[in-house]
Order: sequence, then C-alpha cells, then structure tokens
Amino acid sequence: MPLIMNVEDINDLDGLAPRACEVCHRKDKIFRCSACQAVYYCGRDCQVEDRECHKIPCKLLKKALDRYKLEEQKLREWPGDLDSPANAFEQDVGHFWRNMATRPYMVARLDLAHIMLNSYGTPGGPVDLVQIILDHYFDMLRLSRSDDLGVREIIPGLYVRLGRDQDAYDFMTWFAAVNEDPDHEWGNVDKPFLDTKDANVFEEPLKRAWTVTSFLDLSHAVVVLLIKVRVLLDLYAIQNTFIALTGVIPPEIIAIICGKLVRSDVMFRHQILLSTPEKMASLTKRIKSQVRELYKAVGKYNPYFWNLMVNDPDACVLRTPQYNGYAQRSEQEALVILAFTFAAWYETPGAIKMLRDLAKMR
Ligand SMILES: [Zn+2]
Ligand SMILES: [Zn+2]
Repeated sequence: MPLIMNVEDINDLDGLAPRACEVCHRKDKIFRCSACQAVYYCGRDCQVEDRECHKIPCKLLKKALDRYKLEEQKLREWPGDLDSPANAFEQDVGHFWRNMATRPYMVARLDLAHIMLNSYGTPGGPVDLVQIILDHYFDMLRLSRSDDLGVREIIPGLYVRLGRDQDAYDFMTWFAAVNEDPDHEWGNVDKPFLDTKDANVFEEPLKRAWTVTSFLDLSHAVVVLLIKVRVLLDLYAIQNTFIALTGVIPPEIIAIICGKLVRSDVMFRHQILLSTPEKMASLTKRIKSQVRELYKAVGKYNPYFWNLMVNDPDACVLRTPQYNGYAQRSEQEALVILAFTFAAWYETPGAIKMLRDLAKMR
C-alpha cells in the first residue's frame, strides 16, 4: 500500500481497514514486520514484494521505537536528582512533565506515535494501528495531565476514526469546560479527570471553545463539526429511505431498515430515529444550522483550513508540518490540525461532499 493515497483514491473510503497483509490483504495467518511492528504480511513473498515501499517507513518507525524503548528503560533506571526524583512511574503519574527526567521519554513517545500516524495511519489505514496510536496518546495524557505536548488536540480525531463519536464528544466537552475555569488545578490528581459522560451531541456548539473565533480550539471544533455532519448524514439517509419506502413495505420493516442506517454511536442515537416526520425535520433543521455555524467559525478563524481539507489534504503529510511554534490562524497551523483530523473526514462517506456544498453556500 502506498504511504499517501491521492485525493481521488480516498474519496470513496468507508472507515478503517481491518488488520491484513499489506500486499494481498489476507486476514488470517499473518505476522508483524519484526523491525517496525507496524505492518503485517502473510509470508515472505508478500514481504519481499513490499520491500521497496516499506523500506523507508520501516527504518523510521524502528528508529523511533528503539528510541522510545531506550528512553523508557533510562527513565525506569534513573537514580534521581534534585529536579527529577527517581521512580517517576510510581511517584509522578499525573504530573510527569514536572519531573525533568521524564521529558525525553515523553518526547520519544510522541514522536513514535506521530511517525506511526504519518506513515501507516493515513486514511483507510489499519484499525489496530489507529488503536495503538490512540493508546499511546491517551497514556501520555494519563501520565501528564497538564499535557504540555498537546496530545489532547490529536485524540478526538482518532476516537471518531474508531467510531467512538460519543467518547470524542465527551472528551472535548470536558476540555472546553475546564478551559473556562481559571481555577482548575491541573496538577491535582485527586480532582476528577475526563469524567464527562454522555454529553448531548445535539446541543448548540459551545461558544467560547468552538465558535467564538478569537478563542477557537481549531482541532476540537473540526471534530465536533464532523460528529454533527455524521448525525446529519444519518438523518438524511433515514428521511430518504422513509420517503422511498412508505407505502411500499410495512412500517415495522422500514423502522428496522432505518435503525441500521444510523452509523453514529452517539448516546442519544434513538433521537435520530424520531417517530414523526415533523420531529425529524425539526432536528435536521437544528443540526444543519449548527453545522453551518461551526463551518463558518472554522473558516473565519483559519482561512487556509477548508481549502486544504477539501482540495489538498495530502499536504499535511507531504509538507511535514512543524508541530511546534506555529502562529494562530497561519497556514502552518492549518497543516498541523489537518494532519490530526483529515483521515476521519475522508473515512466518512459523504462528509467531504458536504464540505464542498457548504463552500458553495458562502
Ligand atoms: Zn500477503
Ligand atoms: Zn517494518
């Protein structure tokens, strides 16, 4: 599989790929490349055939993996000094970053996950690799709640790729609330952490975090919008089915078919299947206006973002964005946030088309 597929190829993706041989896509009796541990093959023939393609990413991944393992070992064996006590894994969980000795380990782990994401976690990549990447970022957040490396910007985009829209929404709602609280104690590990559950996806987008354009949290606003776009696509699919099948087959059967059309895993998914056409029309109207609001806010905040997402998404991989020190509203910022979010959009059938339609509306 090529590292980066061109836009035409990724237009008809439908979610992530299962774990399979890189070359023949066989799913059983496969083994991992022992060097990078990121890709699978069914046997020597397929591995040899893929060598040209895999050589460079394999080397990069192996180097990052070795460094991560080495930094972990160094940290575990660290004898401790004045600024950085020993036994960080026992004593410093929650505020790792404060202990200077943990920083090379955290940076090595971040780099490893980034390289995995850029080389094999691009749109349509294997589901288990995306899960591994998410586990890395999540564990980094558990170790260091102050999140000085910014993994909270990456996590929601990975959640939605795995179909966990409600978890993504809860995660972003929690951060939006905490960011509004100037007294929040990041270092206090006895305080609740990421404990928002079943937040209502249909409610108006939170103003300060996602739509007020001087403060906008770009990566989160983009994923909140995608979750709402998915709900809207479900609503359209149900309404179309309803219109096409009413009077043709019994209502009970239509209800079963519609139930299967809802792909969003959101908590209030039963509301998407509202009984009366009037209620459904009103929910559709509400979500549609929220989608427009978020779309506009993102475009106003960063003028590069939507153009890159729709017309040049590969740029965020090919042009190697600088993850540190970019200016707000810059093209560099657009590239970084695109790298965290574009795969989820391209893996949602109909989502990019909706962006094109929204662009025409302006
Ligand atoms: Zn094979
Ligand atoms: Zn390899």
